[in-house]
Amino acid sequence: MDRTRRPVVAGNWKMNGLAASVSELKGIMAGAKAVSGKAELLVCPPATLVASFAKTAKGSTVHIGGQTCYSEASGAFTGEISAEMLADAGATHVIVGHSERRTIFKEKDADVQKKALAARRAGLISIVCVGETKEQREADRATIIVGQQLTGSLPEGAKAANLIVAYEPVWAIGTGLTPTPADIAEMHNFIRERLAARFKAEGEEVRILYGGSVKASNAAELMAVRNVDGALVGGASLKADDFLGIANVY
Ligand code: PGA
Repeated sequence: MDRTRRPVVAGNWKMNGLAASVSELKGIMAGAKAVSGKAELLVCPPATLVASFAKTAKGSTVHIGGQTCYSEASGAFTGEISAEMLADAGATHVIVGHSERRTIFKEKDADVQKKALAARRAGLISIVCVGETKEQREADRATIIVGQQLTGSLPEGAKAANLIVAYEPVWAIGTGLTPTPADIAEMHNFIRERLAARFKAEGEEVRILYGGSVKASNAAELMAVRNVDGALVGGASLKADDFLGIANVY
């Protein structure tokens, strides 16, 4: 656990949550006070809930984010939501390049980079996700793949104040599987070196989150790994108690 960077515990609700789910947000807000001195908490609900969640969380220590955005600010892009719209709805962050976006919606590194730039334009902090598949890890290509994703997806001139990187091995997402702490340390160290090489002093300050089957029972071990500056949590972020159980390791 490296305390020079303020940790972030972020919940990615994916396509889950209805208006009634505000009760979970309120539960997170109630428990957030205990951890707010140590870690930043972020909830990324589906787009339909961003505005109402941001209103509910206003004045609390819980931030609200989007799960993706389009690169343009406005225009004829039916179905898309811009970073400016997320910001207008009260979001402060946006996840870009999640593996589900890359795989199901065919987003390429260049698309992810455009989204991260759009986020910066709108004043949002982007959480850029990278991670290898099972086949790529078994072929010993994990760092090569993550290196390529970093090169292609991160925006030029990024600063620690507008960029967070999330390492999420695809095979660990929603599977209950996690890499060993040694494997996470190796990858986060590699990402740190790449960030420092590209963004100099700013790269040392960018938070690097680990994501993929993080839960209360493994969070302490995973968050203790060097260069792990918090977690991006899917399934275990949907219930306030589960999410707070992770945040409480800080
Ligand atoms: P998981 O998802 O925690 O359910 O594995 C993580 C993610 O996809 O961000």
